Amino acid sequence: MPHRERTLMGPGPGNPYPEVIEAFSRPVLGHLDPDFIALLDETNERLRQVWRTENRLTFPVSGTGSAGMEAAFVNVVRPGDPVVIGVNGVFGERMCDVAARCGADVIRVEAPWGQPIDPQRLLDAHPSPAIIAVVHAETSTGVRNDVAPLADRPDGTLLLVDCVTSLGGIPVTVDEWRVDIAYSGTQKCLGVPPGLSPLTFSDAAVDRIVERPSSWYLDLNMIARYVTGEGARAYHHTAPISMIYALHAGLGVLLDEGLDASWARHAACGMALHQGLEAMGMELFAADTHRLPELTTVWVPEDLPDGLDDATIRRTLLDTYGIEIGGGLGEFAGRVWRIGLMGHTARQRNVTLLLGALGEVLGR
Ligand SMILES: *Cc1c(COP(=O)(O)O)cnc(C)c1O
Repeated sequence: MPHRERTLMGPGPGNPYPEVIEAFSRPVLGHLDPDFIALLDETNERLRQVWRTENRLTFPVSGTGSAGMEAAFVNVVRPGDPVVIGVNGVFGERMCDVAARCGADVIRVEAPWGQPIDPQRLLDAHPSPAIIAVVHAETSTGVRNDVAPLADRPDGTLLLVDCVTSLGGIPVTVDEWRVDIAYSGTQKCLGVPPGLSPLTFSDAAVDRIVERPSSWYLDLNMIARYVTGEGARAYHHTAPISMIYALHAGLGVLLDEGLDASWARHAACGMALHQGLEAMGMELFAADTHRLPELTTVWVPEDLPDGLDDATIRRTLLDTYGIEIGGGLGEFAGRVWRIGLMGHTARQRNVTLLLGALGEVLGR
């Protein structure tokens, strides 16, 4: 494969921070080497700061965001547990699939794609569910679902939140929002390649971990002994050393910038993109009160010049300008574009480049 430089603005991996790429070139230590363990501890501490939590059980799961999702459900769901799940896109749907495989009695609370889920409907769906689960930033639609109001739930109900596309991009405050379980992914707003899923469990969630989860690889009873370092550190599976170097470096960049500054940078870039697209006569897809700055969805114009369609336009952006944007999913395939501004990719110059390139291709 030729080595090509791209401006990755799709919903998948963004361009990593240069400090992160540098981290991959460090010598690979053993997973029980004291220097590596110190770096893992520091990575977990950085994650606590980024999650805004004191949770002891906070670490990166080996695997992508979906591995974090599995780890979140498989460790706390018991067969027959009522689990309320908000569904307004692909990732809420994936949560239902994962929870059902764990034997949950899934109670779906749906909203149309492009619209947020009313948190009160999640609270009203069952008198005392084991878990209420919601996707904070729906990457399939560009919609934010509000999490803060879910702090007001019945005692004994765990709150589980997918923060794959929100962490680092928009405010996430685990302790203040009383979130019990949250997971993210490295390749979205954290500016690191795909491969790890930062996970955090509150003490209440730790108390509910099942004795023998159906997954061996994701069994937190065993993993916790390696990652928290309490008692003797015991081997469970080999940590993906170089990915942890990369995450450590990416979190360092984020904390040096400051979470507030990172959120403000994403907000400003998202706003500039939204306004730029509207100025070109295009219509945004997501509800205007709940648009994500880090993932913009826009309708593919209906009056395209002859010979152009969704696929040819995205291909031209890629081949001529080196820009990757994402297509629509499900019934919106071919009808919506998804444009990411995540982590290192969230820069004004990328907004300008995309708007200029799209303007040239569309002749607007
Ligand atoms: C990307 C994403 C996932 C899945 O992450 P993978 O890294 O693709 O496994 C889950 N939830 C949301 C909201 C996502 O955007």
